[in-house]
Amino acid sequence: VELPIHEAVLGRAAEFGDAPALIDGTDGTTLSYEQLDRFHRRVAAGLAEAGVRKGDVLALHSPNTVAFPTAFYAATRAGAAVTTVHPLATPEEFAKQLEDSAARWIVTVSPLLESARRAAELAGGVREIFVCDSAPGHRSLIDMLGSTAPEPQVAIDPAEDVAALPYSSGTTGIPKGVMLTHRQIATNLAQLEPAIPAGPGDRILAVLPFFHIYGLTALMNAPLRVGATVVVLPRFDLETFLAAIQNHRITGLYVAPPIVLALAKHPLVAEYDLSSLEHIVSAAAPLDAKLAAACSQRLGLPPVGQAYGMTELSPGTHVVPLGAMAEAPPGTVGKLIAGTEMRIVSLDDPDKDLGVGESGEILIRGPQVMKGYLGRPDATAAMIDADGWLHTGDVGHVDSDGWLFVVDRVKELIKYKGFQVAPAELEALLLTHPGIADAAVIGHYNDEGNEVPHAFVVRQPSAPELTEGDVMMYVAERVAPYKRVRRVTFIDGVPRAASGKILRRELRTPKESA
Ligand code: ATP
Ligand code: MG
Repeated sequence: VELPIHEAVLGRAAEFGDAPALIDGTDGTTLSYEQLDRFHRRVAAGLAEAGVRKGDVLALHSPNTVAFPTAFYAATRAGAAVTTVHPLATPEEFAKQLEDSAARWIVTVSPLLESARRAAELAGGVREIFVCDSAPGHRSLIDMLGSTAPEPQVAIDPAEDVAALPYSSGTTGIPKGVMLTHRQIATNLAQLEPAIPAGPGDRILAVLPFFHIYGLTALMNAPLRVGATVVVLPRFDLETFLAAIQNHRITGLYVAPPIVLALAKHPLVAEYDLSSLEHIVSAAAPLDAKLAAACSQRLGLPPVGQAYGMTELSPGTHVVPLGAMAEAPPGTVGKLIAGTEMRIVSLDDPDKDLGVGESGEILIRGPQVMKGYLGRPDATAAMIDADGWLHTGDVGHVDSDGWLFVVDRVKELIKYKGFQVAPAELEALLLTHPGIADAAVIGHYNDEGNEVPHAFVVRQPSAPELTEGDVMMYVAERVAPYKRVRRVTFIDGVPRAASGKILRRELRTPKESA
């Protein structure tokens, strides 16, 4: 694929013409493909006129809106690399990302302007803050639509030039800036497309954030490339989400496990007509097979399919093809996509390749492996070895048909007296308890110095009397003794990143709750 990302995605936009590209799920504002195509070219001209040049980093700081893709593709067309920022980042966090990425420009939205200003002050180096909507004293993307400047003709080398600079989720450490070239992102889109065919008439609900690589790919680039309609929601709120599925006749959902959990268990779900749904795909964190089955059975859908990837992989390597959802074994994250190689190696000896059914670290090699971490050559070298294999830090195994199963992260495995316990397995088991609404498990060092599973449990409102003993007993009856939960803490909610991942580090230093 030798096109810059805006052309790889919007190459057929003119052909899709009046078809809706994006719809605001709350107020119905609609942008057609023709408008998306024209608007992003005008905004590119406006950005170039304002001084944006090839190689500049532009920070895009916005919740999901109809304007987000216009801003993104306009920036890449102007030659910038876009670093996407969590809309709820504190000014300090935002400033760190601005500094780390040496961003020169910010595109934000008026409700977040104060935070963006503060971040720019803290970081220095930002030349101008633009707004998507409008705010006094700031150039707006809407004004740029009227720009008469010529469209920038920037020579982009898809193989070398960075298109996106997303930050990893920071689940296991500080978030790192991941350099993804135009070619890496476009290639991965093309690799995933055959497994998840879509086109005009498909309506995708963008509830996961565009700023995370999963949303950026599955909810923005992929559907816009094929003429589907993307209905955007700025945040996850169960009622709004369910109403949007019903009112916009959503056909495909790309979500993370907490949303599958809500769909499987929450009483509100029964009050909405979700019959337009054709499939659900979950990614970003471990999804238990029983939970997936409970969700699909309740909604009368084919089994929930999974995909697997990481920011550093542009992001996908495995997916359950939509056409194979019924035959895929429960719990699999999918099959390796074309043009990609995988090895599973021993956790004790990375030179030893493992066979079918044996769990080890997943290594990936392929055209979607990132260019590197920005400004962190050591971290890059620790991640990608001399032969080009990216060490994912995830543990998994394949069956004889090549279906991959992800067990957990290497770093999260609890080592109890020489055994290894995957928190994801215990979390899945806990969720099968009718009195448990949500759960997270971490390793805890007990008085004897052994690392043991410590469960954090959210009670169902219907089960206020659930005790620590009940929880421990429930697990003890169902797992080998070394996997038993040895400590239980009741909490009000499991801390999660925007991408749906459990923030275990926040459980390690629990904040005092009133
Ligand atoms: P950081 O690297 O900053 O600690 P992170 O790894 O959470 O954060 P992401 O790139 O958003 O950042 O997430 C990639 C990780 O998500 C994978 O390494 C894997 O652990 C997990 N993951 C993704 N898809 C799945 C899946 N289907 N099942 C289980 N885990 C998944
Ligand atoms: Mg990671």
